[in-house]
Parts: sequence; C-alpha cells; structure tokens
Amino acid sequence: MRLVFIGAPGAGKGTQARRLESEKGWTVVATGDLLRAAIAENTPLGQQAQAYIQRGELVPDELVNQLVAERLATLDSFILDGYPRNLAQAAMLETILTQPLDAVIYFEISEDALIERLSGRRICPKCHAVYHLTANPSPRGDQCGVCEATLITRDDDQPDTVRKRFQVFREQTAPLIDYYRERGLLHTVPADAAPDAVYQRVLSVL
Ligand code: AMP
Repeated sequence: MRLVFIGAPGAGKGTQARRLESEKGWTVVATGDLLRAAIAENTPLGQQAQAYIQRGELVPDELVNQLVAERLATLDSFILDGYPRNLAQAAMLETILTQPLDAVIYFEISEDALIERLSGRRICPKCHAVYHLTANPSPRGDQCGVCEATLITRDDDQPDTVRKRFQVFREQTAPLIDYYRERGLLHTVPADAAPDAVYQRVLSVL
C-alpha cells in the first residue's frame, strides 16, 4: 500500500500513520520526524533545517526531496506523513515513485480544534510516539508508554509558531487537496474525533 497523508499541523496524521504501521506493517516516512532526528544528531541536513523548523516555515524542497527519495528507494509499502507539503514536492514525488500511489487521505479539522490539540501534544523524542495530555495520555504519565523515554513538547508547538504553520498549510499545502482530487486519489476523513474513531474511518476508506 502506498499512501500520502495530508492535514494541518495537529490533524492526527502521525498518530494514525503509526497505528497503521504497527497493525499493517506499512512503513511510515514522516519528514518532520526525519528532520528532527537530523537536528538531534547535528548532521549537515539538521543544521540546515533547524532554523526553518523553528520559524514554522517549510524546509527548502531540495533538502526534503532528497531525504524522501533515499527513504522510498527501499520501500514497496509506505505511508508518507508530511510529504508532499506543496505542489513542487508533489511533482517531485511523481518522479521518485516507481509505482503509483494507492490513495491520499486528507484529515479535515477546524483550526480551533487544532490549537487545543497542539497545546496538549507531547511526543517521544526516541520512538516518535505521540500523546495528548487529556485526549490520549501516556499510561506512564510523562514517560513514553512504549519506550519509557521522557516525553517532550515540540518547540514548534508554541503558539506563535503554530500560527505560522497554519498559514503555511493554508497557502502551500492546501492546494494539494485539489491536486489529488483531480487525479482521483483524494479521500477526506473528518478528523475532529477521538483517535480510535478516526482510525475506523481511515480503515473504511482503505
Ligand atoms: P511535521 O512534524 O510534519 O509537523 O513537520 C515539522 C516541520 O518540519 C514543518 O513545520 C517544516 O518546517 C518541516 N517539514 C516537515 N515536512 C516537510 C516537507 N515535506 N517540506 C518542507 N518542510 C517540512
């Protein structure tokens, strides 16, 4: 299965992608996670990407395209979480793929609901599990329920950066909705619900 997940920051793409990965075995390729790992390891890519991520802007296409091309080269089944983020990346993805996409899922949700979600989001810096203080708390409190690392708030979940990321989504990423609709690939999943309910909707689309 070859899937693309599109949605504004906090729409739940990562949570749904991780669950599909563990239940179906399709590998998640999450560009945000790969970039954060590169920053944590202080690689040349991480050094270049850091300032863009802190400002809530997109990292330049050539850096992200190369990262995705390297990851997809070895995968038959994957879920792209957070890529493509603009029309240029979508065009590049078509040249990277050796087999066509099966579906694009758009997680649709209002910005008000997203602000509430992002302010309570906590992530595991080690295994990338995603939690929410009230909606999806870790069974181990401030430690990851999977690997026991101490959970953190993402720097770019601060309110000013979140506003910038929404603007980037509206201006650069939202045009992909029509792009994939015109290609007959788009499925819209209402994402303003608990993770389990959204997961059932994703399964019914697939
Ligand atoms: P995410 O974890 O998907 O919310 O991504 C966090 C940040 O990483 C974004 O705000 C961007 O700065 C950067 N990023 C992730 N994916 C991409 C992409 N496909 N193109 C450019 N920047 C990206």
